[in-house]
Amino acid sequence: MLDDALIHRFAEIVGDKYALRAVGEIAPYVEEPRGLFAGRTPLVLKPATTEEVSRILRLASGTGTAIVPQGGNTGLVGGQMPDRSGREVVVSLSRLNRIREVDVQSNTITAEAGVILQTLQQTAEEHGRLFPLALASQGSCQIGGNLSSNAGGIGVLAYGGARELCLGVEVVLPTGEVLDDLRKLKKDNTGYDLKNLFIGAEGTLGIITAAVLKLFPLPKGRDVAWAALSSPRDALGFFELALARAGNGLTAFELVGATPLEFALRHVPGAVAPLSGSHPWYVMVEISSGISAEASGMLMEEVMTAGLEAGLVIDAVIAQSTAQAEAFRNLREALSESQKPEGGSIKHDISVPVVSIPDFIEQAGKAVQKVVPGSRVACFGHMGDGNLHYNISQPVGADKQEFLSHYRAMNDAIHEIVRAMGGSISAEHGIGRMKRDELLVTAPPVAINLMRRIKQAFDPAGIMNPGKVI
Ligand SMILES: Cc1cc2nc3c(=O)[nH]c(=O)nc-3n(C[C@H](O)[C@H](O)[C@H](O)COP(=O)(O)OP(=O)(O)OC[C@H]3O[C@@H](n4cnc5c(N)ncnc54)[C@H](O)[C@@H]3O)c2cc1C
Repeated sequence: MLDDALIHRFAEIVGDKYALRAVGEIAPYVEEPRGLFAGRTPLVLKPATTEEVSRILRLASGTGTAIVPQGGNTGLVGGQMPDRSGREVVVSLSRLNRIREVDVQSNTITAEAGVILQTLQQTAEEHGRLFPLALASQGSCQIGGNLSSNAGGIGVLAYGGARELCLGVEVVLPTGEVLDDLRKLKKDNTGYDLKNLFIGAEGTLGIITAAVLKLFPLPKGRDVAWAALSSPRDALGFFELALARAGNGLTAFELVGATPLEFALRHVPGAVAPLSGSHPWYVMVEISSGISAEASGMLMEEVMTAGLEAGLVIDAVIAQSTAQAEAFRNLREALSESQKPEGGSIKHDISVPVVSIPDFIEQAGKAVQKVVPGSRVACFGHMGDGNLHYNISQPVGADKQEFLSHYRAMNDAIHEIVRAMGGSISAEHGIGRMKRDELLVTAPPVAINLMRRIKQAFDPAGIMNPGKVI
């Protein structure tokens, strides 16, 4: 445990009120909402300024105290959790939550790390701009967490993920030094791109305290449709067709298997099937237009008609109102959560080249049945990015713990297929604690060695989020 004198020195930096020590106050910071990861800490610090973060890290470096940065605590790989030693201090960025500037002419927004993603989206909208990062956790997750986990989501296809949306960062290094790289530049070839080292580093290299993010014109039209298809191969054909016609206007192309849709319809209150009858596969398509609502509507009609004529689409419905479009999006976002009532679930967040998606689904389906016969595949995800949430629910009536005892064997079987296809075992959720061991044995040794040397150069005392990523 940390000694009282040291705890007192940390507490002095943020003030007593924002140095949480009571068990009840600390509780929400030491367990993530799904209950998969939990830890212990004697202290949660809630700094309100970059200066306070700097003083915390300077003291931590000087005393060899491990620091775990935490944003909205929605991460899915345990990166934001302290370990069980009771020696790690959690630094919550939630009070560092000011929007510093909206520059509509440069199309940028400068926000502190603790700004909630949804607040950022709303602020952009109030200025007639779009911030396109969109996740089901957007009501809780924070910009600092989004950047640190290089979050993806539905809008990546057209706008890119957190990395592509970030122009500049302000970071406090483990020594307490502040790297002020809050520039609004799209072009900047002056040496190594340090900013990109912090994005996706999951808090292992420093604490992001603010960022300059890209904004886009608010689309004038946005149409959402739901289409039924026979197979992932037809979905791939339809994706190519939609992209060829809509280009950058294709702002989402989400694949949904029959099983996860069935789960959502069973468990999400008020959920309604977009199409009648049941089909093996579906896609949710979004088309946006900067010209008008009519333009996106016409383009959507054209894409769906072409899909039907090409024999790729069996049936389709275009949302006729904002409420219906929202219902389609909500249904898609609910797929992950609605697996819970179906018992144990073994998750994979994989990516492969888009062209390999049909082969992946075919090969992975066979592999799953070899590991646990009768397992139900809940496959859905960002097809346009080659990223699938390939989750496996336990066979009906199976024992949950017995099923979950196959977690590693199932992961190994799926990840072997992914690697053979040149894919990634963590497309958007990161490594954290959950996939660290797997990364260490599967990434090329040269890459691991380089990552270790980078970590050593930035954080020689090893205080930043130890035990995570590498
Ligand atoms: C329902 C649900 C849906 C989700 N959907 C998606 C999705 O579609 N796509 C996707 O990519 N993810 C998704 N996620 C995962 C998660 O929401 C994202 O990873 C999100 O970006 C995490 O943000 P956070 O603020 O909650 O960070 P946390 O969970 O608090 O932290 C995540 C990591 O970042 C580090 N960190 C946090 N803040 C900072 C900082 N300021 N400086 C340095 N390090 C920091 C932490 O130490 C940790 O390693 C989903 C999660 C849920 C619960």
